Amino acid sequence: MIKLWRRWREARIVRRHPIDERDWQMVLAQLPLLARLTNKELARLRRMAILFMHEKEFVGVGGQVLTGNMALLIALQACLPILNLGLHWYRGWRSILVYPSAFRARRTLTDNHGIQHHMNEAMLGEAWQQSGVILSWSATATAGIIDGQNLVIHEFAHKLDMLNGEADGFPPLRPGMSVADWTQAFTQAYEHFCQQIEAGAPTTLDPYAAVNPAEFFAVVSEVFFETPQILHDSYPAVYQQLARFFDQYPLAHTP
Ligand SMILES: [Zn+2]
Repeated sequence: MIKLWRRWREARIVRRHPIDERDWQMVLAQLPLLARLTNKELARLRRMAILFMHEKEFVGVGGQVLTGNMALLIALQACLPILNLGLHWYRGWRSILVYPSAFRARRTLTDNHGIQHHMNEAMLGEAWQQSGVILSWSATATAGIIDGQNLVIHEFAHKLDMLNGEADGFPPLRPGMSVADWTQAFTQAYEHFCQQIEAGAPTTLDPYAAVNPAEFFAVVSEVFFETPQILHDSYPAVYQQLARFFDQYPLAHTP
């Protein structure tokens, strides 16, 4: 009964807040990231984005004015990782704050040696356990460039990671996934990556991924959706785990 009611309610929201076809085409052109999706998947993403925009609160701060197109651009990227998981994976929080550009944040960060760093620095994005996500528009607007970096996916990957406590690179796995396989794939890859960084060797991932396992998970999630081949070539086991976690297979030859 509750399920039926929810379906009815969602259908009503989607009906009442349609995305104009011109806006839709414009946003698709801005997001080459979505080009690999089938028409069916795109239709589901479009519906999910409408529900997402209805459920969440978009707030422009620091003088940032938010247009419908901007909210849609954020919503589509945020919903891409949960396309096959469901919107309930973003439950328990509401706001998305958008600054014009980098914002200053004071925070404490624990590195992989357990040392705490107190920082007051310029940041492009942040995810909070209880409240929501903060993004800078300047870094969000570059989503049209396929370079393996995607601020929205990065911050929303942290939100998935926070579903079972503090972000630690270990989100709640989907049924049928093996904790041991996940842990082995991520631990080996993270250790290897940190060794590369310490040795000053060139890396295919953003060096920021070495900060801690939570950042590693967020960075490889960006790469998984933006440049999956690079992740598959560097860390195939991590690619496989992410494909199972997101239930998406961006490389056609890996079913
Ligand atoms: Zn991060």
